[in-house]
Amino acid sequence: MTDIQQIVPSARSAGRGFHAYSAKHLDVLTARAGLAADERLAVRAVAAVLPFRTNSYVIENLIDWAAAPDDPIYRLVFPQPDMLPAADVARLAGLIAAGAPQADLRAAAHEIRMRLNPHPAGQLLLNAPSLHGRPLPGLQHKYPETVLFFPRQGQTCHAYCTYCFRWAQFVDEPDLKMATDDIGTLVAYLGEHPEVTSVLITGGDPMIMGEPVLRRYIEPLLDPRLEHLESIRIGTKSLAYWPQRYVTDPDADATLRLFSEVVDSGRTLAFMAHFSHPRELEPPVLAEAVRRIRSTGAVIRTQAPLIRSINDDPATWRAMWRTQVRQGMIPYYMFVERDTGPQDYFAVPLARGYEIFRDAYQGVSGLGRTVRGPSMSATPGKVCVDGVTDVAGLRVFVLRMIQARDPRLVGTPFFARFDPAATWLTDLEPVFADRFPFEPSSYETVPDELPGLWPDEPDELMVPAI
Ligand code: SF4
Repeated sequence: MTDIQQIVPSARSAGRGFHAYSAKHLDVLTARAGLAADERLAVRAVAAVLPFRTNSYVIENLIDWAAAPDDPIYRLVFPQPDMLPAADVARLAGLIAAGAPQADLRAAAHEIRMRLNPHPAGQLLLNAPSLHGRPLPGLQHKYPETVLFFPRQGQTCHAYCTYCFRWAQFVDEPDLKMATDDIGTLVAYLGEHPEVTSVLITGGDPMIMGEPVLRRYIEPLLDPRLEHLESIRIGTKSLAYWPQRYVTDPDADATLRLFSEVVDSGRTLAFMAHFSHPRELEPPVLAEAVRRIRSTGAVIRTQAPLIRSINDDPATWRAMWRTQVRQGMIPYYMFVERDTGPQDYFAVPLARGYEIFRDAYQGVSGLGRTVRGPSMSATPGKVCVDGVTDVAGLRVFVLRMIQARDPRLVGTPFFARFDPAATWLTDLEPVFADRFPFEPSSYETVPDELPGLWPDEPDELMVPAI
């Protein structure tokens, strides 16, 4: 890394040895992966639309440079030259090569982003809560028992995943971002919603925040008046991208004390830890970070999407789940890549996804079979592909709602016509019924207490509110 430091110094944070690399380092780093000049230009074109950031730990400890650019961790963090439609990449590459004004590049990037469904599953409209008639930006309330909170200082990550479904949080588009620093309003909202038993603090990555800032968000949630709050969850990939956060960072011990305080308050503190590949579990510093977090009484559940060319084989998932169980973590979800950003590039067909899940699941002990999937986080809820089978001579997908906007649908099984190419719920057609259970005319009337549940024009809800 000495060469890169000499050519383009990275951003470094005092006292913890964290060096961040951004788009301005791409040319040097992709040259190290052996990319030719035109491929490097194409990567920079993609990075004008989708975010790029990585750090010294990922570069030095996780990526196998001898295998780059095919190495799965390289593909996890580095944009690929063909991740976007060829015409878009050529247009942006042309602008970059011609030294076009930044305003032109930004305008072209904006136009492409708007075609990438930046907020899937109706996030901005369907999930937006309000308090006394006032909308609450930076909060989402999709399922009755869980509220998502997006702390303003937590809307970045130690590194960005190429397939991220929250990519819109990280690009230069203020209108696409969800964030707030108003913890008081969250507490007031929770006070009026006794049905909420869990708050998920998410991002970005909330663990990018230092302990004093994290404490400002978490302490108010421990108020005894919020006794209906049973758990606080933290959605994070810090264990994979910067495990030093819990071991050697200057505020590591203070952070662990904060975790203990949550547990001592009588609530569960759950890490929803994102691991994409077993290599992320290998460094000794990761094992030590897991051990230290668990010593506070917090639990670590693991999850990741199934991604073509990164983790789309059963052996990868089996190795991840077995190592996680060995290290004391709880396998929780295999997700289907969501319908946003470069989904076309990374998606694995549902039929193949089911086979990968089944074959991996067969190779773990009962302690690893806590995992669910492959699951689609879609507009009506989380839909799990439970199987592919033949019913009355017809090949079908067996599906199940494992979470739903309408709580009455949780646990509901249903069928869809088998389609080997389908990659998302919207690709599927009902079979043995004229509609899926979450579609509106399944009910005689739409219940009043579920406003916005059945939009008249669902397609419009996929367009960001800009
Ligand atoms: S860590 Fe999570 S939020 Fe951050 S880039 Fe990766 S998938 Fe997105």
